[in-house]
Amino acid sequence: MTVFDHPDFDRHEQVVFHHDPSSGLRALIAIHSTRLGPSLGGCRMFPYVDEAAALTDVLRLSRGMSFKAALAGLPQGGGKSVILGDPRRDKSPALLRAMGRGIERLGGAYVVAEDSGTNVADIEVMSGVTRHVSGLTDAQTRATGRTGDPSPATAYGTLVAIRTAVRFAFGRDDLEGVRVAIQGVGNVGYRLAALLHAEGARLWVADTHSPAVDRCVRAFGAVAVPVSAIHAQAVEVFAPCALGGVVNDHTLPQLQARVVAGAANNQLARPEHDSLLQARGILYAPDYVVNAGGIIDIHHQRTGYDAAAVRAHLDRIGDTLSDIFTRAAVRGRATGAVADALAEAVFRP
Ligand code: NAD
Repeated sequence: MTVFDHPDFDRHEQVVFHHDPSSGLRALIAIHSTRLGPSLGGCRMFPYVDEAAALTDVLRLSRGMSFKAALAGLPQGGGKSVILGDPRRDKSPALLRAMGRGIERLGGAYVVAEDSGTNVADIEVMSGVTRHVSGLTDAQTRATGRTGDPSPATAYGTLVAIRTAVRFAFGRDDLEGVRVAIQGVGNVGYRLAALLHAEGARLWVADTHSPAVDRCVRAFGAVAVPVSAIHAQAVEVFAPCALGGVVNDHTLPQLQARVVAGAANNQLARPEHDSLLQARGILYAPDYVVNAGGIIDIHHQRTGYDAAAVRAHLDRIGDTLSDIFTRAAVRGRATGAVADALAEAVFRP
């Protein structure tokens, strides 16, 4: 396992291996860039097959956060952390406190939030030993009738993205009757389904957890689809909201949607799927632009929450996407490549 020569190293500022024998903690913290401000990113807990897999994951995720923050107009950099372990079996208050101490030692260069395998309660445990936390349900968030969970903002930002992409692809200003296939109706996907339903969209949904699907069928009249077929529905929009790598050599030829716009991170299995989508005439809304609602919300939680200001910031996801779509169309380039170039112009020295 190499670090400096790792294909995803990409000039990371700092990569920390953190170990606490008494709690069993083994964790990695990656700080890709602090050029725009402290790096911010979630702490993922996952039973990685080995350290090499954990390193690859943390480097990719941390780098992605730099791009996301840059195009969301946030004064912060990209970072991420991973804990090697099964969250259902290995998580303990002692382990979370040990993680918090490791974050504290970095002096604020990395600010932690929740991610898959961790939740608001876990970040609250870490907050006992480090100030460098975000996404908490504290007195301030409670006063605005919210929790620290950024999912509602992520879902709203995804709605804005879908509206923008539908306008660009079909020249229409509303979602009445527009058919959307949502892959994964968890925290973000379910809320997105509710927002789309309220705008008159028709929904097709799939989830490996069948009660999540049933809930959408009952609440929104959604059509339940097998997990293996959700990407191939005859719809206008495919919205991946579950996991990464869903646009790949197998699924891409089967897509019928003219728009791919969803909240999942790292939707393209390989970078070249960006231009392959373009070649098929499918408008891809770059995932990290679409799902920036979460870090936008967390930024406002940290700096003073004003619901109208947050809404205005989330609406700017639409402006950013319009700009990307227009530049891509004018230059005949793929949308993901255009987004990457715009982001790098913001955060690269
Ligand atoms: P979640 O775990 O609440 O929901 C994911 C859902 O996908 C679950 O219901 C799960 O059962 C389902 N699922 C898993 N594998 C599936 C498969 N193969 N096919 C269909 N469904 C499947 O997670 P979430 O918070 O809703 O996040 C969804 C995605 O959005 C993730 O990729 C996450 O990284 C990304 N994201 C979330 C946020 C946020 O604010 N929560 C912010 C940015 C990005």
